[in-house]
Amino acid sequence: AEAGVSLALAAVAQPPAAWQGLLEAWPQPAWVVHLSTRAVVAVNSAATQLLAMSPEALMALPGDSLAASPEDLAWWALADLGQVQALHTDTIVAAVDGRVLHVSRSIRALAAPGETSQTAAHCLVSLVDRSTEQRSEAAREALLSEMQATLESTADGLLVTDLGGRVRSFNRRFAELFDLPEHLLLADDPAALLEGMGLQTTDPVAHDTRWAALMSAPQISPQSTLCDRLELRSGRTLERVMRPLLHAGRVQGRVFAFRDLTDSLAAARQIERLRLTDALTQLPNRDALGQALASACDEARGGGRGFAVLLIDLDRFRQINDTLDHEAGNRVLQEVARRIAGCLRQQDTLARVGGDQFAALVVQADEQSASVTARRILKVVAQPSDDAQTLQHLQFTLTCSIGIALCPSHGFTADKLRCRAEAALGAVKQSGRANFRMHPARGEVNWREHIRLDHAMRQALASSRFRLQYQPQFELASGRMVGAEALLRWRDPHLGEVSPTRFIPVAEDSGFIIALGEWVLAQAVRQAALWHARGIALPIAVNVSALQFQQVHFVDRVASVLAVSGIPAHLLELELTESILLHDAEEALLRLQALADLGVRLAIDDFGTGYSSLAYLKRFPIGTLKIDRSFVAGLPGDERDVGIVRAVLQMARALGKQVVAEGVENEAQRDFLRQEGCDVVQGWLYAPALDSLSFEQKLRTCSQAGTLASGPAQSEAAAAAVDAVDAKAASQARARAPLRLVDGC
Ligand code: C2E
Ligand code: CA
Ligand code: CA
Repeated sequence: AEAGVSLALAAVAQPPAAWQGLLEAWPQPAWVVHLSTRAVVAVNSAATQLLAMSPEALMALPGDSLAASPEDLAWWALADLGQVQALHTDTIVAAVDGRVLHVSRSIRALAAPGETSQTAAHCLVSLVDRSTEQRSEAAREALLSEMQATLESTADGLLVTDLGGRVRSFNRRFAELFDLPEHLLLADDPAALLEGMGLQTTDPVAHDTRWAALMSAPQISPQSTLCDRLELRSGRTLERVMRPLLHAGRVQGRVFAFRDLTDSLAAARQIERLRLTDALTQLPNRDALGQALASACDEARGGGRGFAVLLIDLDRFRQINDTLDHEAGNRVLQEVARRIAGCLRQQDTLARVGGDQFAALVVQADEQSASVTARRILKVVAQPSDDAQTLQHLQFTLTCSIGIALCPSHGFTADKLRCRAEAALGAVKQSGRANFRMHPARGEVNWREHIRLDHAMRQALASSRFRLQYQPQFELASGRMVGAEALLRWRDPHLGEVSPTRFIPVAEDSGFIIALGEWVLAQAVRQAALWHARGIALPIAVNVSALQFQQVHFVDRVASVLAVSGIPAHLLELELTESILLHDAEEALLRLQALADLGVRLAIDDFGTGYSSLAYLKRFPIGTLKIDRSFVAGLPGDERDVGIVRAVLQMARALGKQVVAEGVENEAQRDFLRQEGCDVVQGWLYAPALDSLSFEQKLRTCSQAGTLASGPAQSEAAAAAVDAVDAKAASQARARAPLRLVDGC
């Protein structure tokens, strides 16, 4: 089109004045130059605007100064020789106002009528302003190189793919991380590049599968980010983060960023290692042992072999340490650690758990192999050291004491095992040190059974499968029923009727006894209240486990259960074991006193089986001693049982306590007990434990068969029971033809 206009100009116009008008119609900035004089003879306003010059100023300039690039100068020179050809150049023109303009310029001959392009006297210079285009191009390029620089300067490897998984770009760091060879980078073969990447991982097959899964993952959304880890053959660990590549809000591909985590993971591991290492011996420390123990327990629970925990304490190390200097003391500890470690296998763990205390976790060990290891340790520790420098010429024999706990025989939690090994260690120290001792196993605990039972019990309580039975107690002198012991019963749908001798120890071990005991207490008191409302003022004895008694709020619980029921406190008797008195005698005394202040009766159960001492019996507000049925069993033939029972009865008399003999099964036992002055008996000879209805039935039959309790013959306990029926209850009782306290039958 431009050429057409130029021809038209040449054809129609009369040089030079007429060209002015025609130039105005020319769409681009343009001017006409007289070739031989270089004078600008015509100029259009587009040109004056672009160059910011008036037409006069422009026309005052020599034509070749307006187009003065080396190419232009050559063109002018050729034109002087009559060789005029069109010239097209992209060049720069300076406007008067200082702007630099990017233009496409053409110069060509402008032949007037009668002239040819070779003979033309004028030329036309025309410009196309490319400045705007040029600016945005430059901006784009700047942006691109900025982006490239940014990508290259990040510490992460970057890989961009399209939605189909074809590689679009990546940075140098990506190539470095994957150790990709140069030829792969230059080859422009995306598939080979991806394959090369997979081959650098420790498991190329898994990597390819994962990659394929990522790529075929349904529609990634603009928000979705995925993060995983890659293990490389080089030993490095990379974190891979995948984000969608967005363009105009639409997902166009995926951007993967790979970060080298190797160093930070190594640093974290090092910190963790230091945290779990004893600085002096470089052995695992107490925390590390805790972890090892916990996982060994998990393994044992999952069916793995048992193991042993040996707690090794250096005897009198303090003295030796004080005699030697600090440095030498440390060297002795290091030496001891080395020697003990020599007695263990690779799979075992030796830890330093205190200043002069070590612990060994010996895997796959039973009582016998743990003893062998302990003996070996005792021996190597006691060997004299020949390192004169270490011992500073001080001759001494180092010995150690070892306490051992076995999993699962002695427990299957880290705490319990540690605690039992400590107890065994304490026993060794008390009996003269330099020896080892196994925690005395409380029978061989079948801990799988233990766990199952504990679980079943918890469910049973939630589904109300526990119930109470009541075993009557009779006064020997009068034959009257004077109380009842509440005994827990449990029928499990799978296990059938489970004896409390089986489940109570498990509940005590797991702590479930606290909840269970609370239930028993509430239930028994509720029953006592029901009977009380019907005129039966019979004390009910409830068994209380040591753990339950030691609960901070135990006394409050008892008080509130009593308050809710409304029965007089002396209708509740708590049967406690001797062990509660041994645990923390002062605390126990306070608690017992608080209970006695409430008016609750207190009894010591299984008396004679524990370590009762006269001293505490005198101090504690306990009204009743229950002779354990194991002592009653041998009466009257077994001399030792006879001796024990007599002693208990004498002592009780001296201290003013009542005695209940339990487990009375025959008349010979009863006669002996009566003769020796025992107050109350309980046993199958009279009645087994009965559910509440059978118990009432029993009470009724006894009432019909015997005489009613009355007059001076009435025992103190029975009198108290009768007195306890308050006026209201008594009238209610009369109205309902009440059951009465009666003679034994
Ligand atoms: P315990 O407190 O010594 O209870 C007396 C045990 O002797 C009961 O066994 C009772 O059924 C049994 N017995 C009663 N008369 C005779 C007899 O003439 N001959 C023989 N051989 N045994 C007799 P049970 O019910 O199996 O309870 C066993 C133990 O379980 C109780 O011994 C007590 O230590 C514990 N226990 C029962 N119920 C509870 C409870 O509610 N809480 C707590 N903490 N322990 C309980
Ligand atoms: Ca009892
Ligand atoms: Ca007992």
